[in-house]
Amino acid sequence: MPNSTTSACKRMDAIALQHAPSQCKIWLPPNHSTYGCGAVETHQHAFHDCPRICTLWDFHSTALDCFGVDFNWSSISDLEVFMTNRLGSHHYDALYILWSLLVASLLHSIWVQHNFVQYEHRSPLSARTWTEHSFHAWTMSIGRWHRLQDPSCADRFGALDALRILQNQPNCRDLWTRYPHCLQL
Ligand SMILES: [Zn+2]
Repeated sequence: MPNSTTSACKRMDAIALQHAPSQCKIWLPPNHSTYGCGAVETHQHAFHDCPRICTLWDFHSTALDCFGVDFNWSSISDLEVFMTNRLGSHHYDALYILWSLLVASLLHSIWVQHNFVQYEHRSPLSARTWTEHSFHAWTMSIGRWHRLQDPSCADRFGALDALRILQNQPNCRDLWTRYPHCLQL
């Protein structure tokens, strides 16, 4: 792994730990799924496999599929497991940052919504609302990360290049078009 990638890994682990629920003591009682699908609520089910949840991952996975980025449970539960296709390899360091921010943002949102539904008896968000909410949370975290970097940081420019490609992916083009200033760089 190149030195620049190694340092990016360390930075992103630190960032992810600030947001991901792995920082907290996550305790799931031996119940069935919060969303009533009938499955036993393991960590993998609650954070990834539940039909209410996997649509979120599917949306972002489809958007980043052009780079061959993987959102399987084994990958998102270990941030060091990150691979891309040939196109993604041209933006590897920047994609790793964008992907880590997205994973951290989604895990945080899934945990917050889980607890709203489970303990505050709120209605689950619709898939459309949650997808849009997750898009905003992710782009806000990108903007924050971008502002905190040194102006000469190569990853800043790499991230912008990768985002320009992402903005043209069919399944998320509408969101980028409706919110052209969402990054607030
Ligand atoms: Zn479920």
